[in-house]
Amino acid sequence: MPRVEKQTETTTQPAGRPTPAMWRFENKVVLVTGASAGGIGGAVAQRLASEGAQIVLFSSEPSDDLADELRAAGSDVLATQGDVRTQGDVDRLAGAISEHAGRLDVLVNNAGVELGVRFEDMPDSEWEHVLGVNLTGLMRVTRSVLPLMKCKGAVIVNVASALGMVGCPGMTAYSASKGAVISLTQSLGLELAPQGVRVVGVAPGVVRTPLLRRFSEHLTPDMLSQIRATHPLGLGRPHDVAAAVAFLASDDARWITGVTLPMGWAPGLTLPLDQINTAQ
Ligand code: NAD
Repeated sequence: MPRVEKQTETTTQPAGRPTPAMWRFENKVVLVTGASAGGIGGAVAQRLASEGAQIVLFSSEPSDDLADELRAAGSDVLATQGDVRTQGDVDRLAGAISEHAGRLDVLVNNAGVELGVRFEDMPDSEWEHVLGVNLTGLMRVTRSVLPLMKCKGAVIVNVASALGMVGCPGMTAYSASKGAVISLTQSLGLELAPQGVRVVGVAPGVVRTPLLRRFSEHLTPDMLSQIRATHPLGLGRPHDVAAAVAFLASDDARWITGVTLPMGWAPGLTLPLDQINTAQ
């Protein structure tokens, strides 16, 4: 009898890449802040573009490589550079969107910075930088582009963090900024609901991005095993977050507002206590 080879699962997409069967953002204009290749914002831009969105990029660093990649895949892209903290940059961004597209359907507030420092050693400048980018910058971008979001089904998606919901020593400024983003999402969701604008968020655990690579140099093996223990499905990839952002930003989530979705970790997660031997 001929030997039957076991079929291995094949896919045309690299692991973690989206395989969108949908076209939920056709004719929609989407702004992603802090979008850079390899990061969460870049993956969000790729995912929404792959479902038909016209993309606007805004970041403190040039995003030419990402813009070229999106254009090569057939997307309409407006790449702009600026600082979310600077009102003049943000006003210029709103003006450019108005001129280029005339409106904005989806805002993804993704730009962010991280900081690990003992609270007692925190310089004011570091505190102000983290809060300035992660919270005040998000507020400035949102306030400036909101007049362009008077279209049906407009959505704001805020990229918060697990550390906005749970504590972590050494991360007070970052946690405070992301916790505030989650609170802002709740209140703004209620405030804008009568206008038909939804405000939602994601709170990812640890995701493999350039930001994490910079940060992980400072992690000990013990810290890494603690992080793994709180991520039952393993560490995340940017495309995992992008897939959730795509859902929340789409009309599939039309009945959801004011909430932030934990991802990769679970509130109330029990540590694997069966692995701890307390016998004498
Ligand atoms: P990243 O460093 O790849 O992306 C951050 C982006 O923000 C970059 O493009 C950077 O240029 C931009 N940026 C920083 N300061 C800015 C400013 N002042 N004005 C405009 N743009 C600015 O990191 P990432 O991991 O992709 O992070 C994206 C978001 O996801 C951040 O808000 C981060 O806090 C959040 N997040 C990341 C993780 C993770 O484990 N990587 C987990 C939870 C949440």
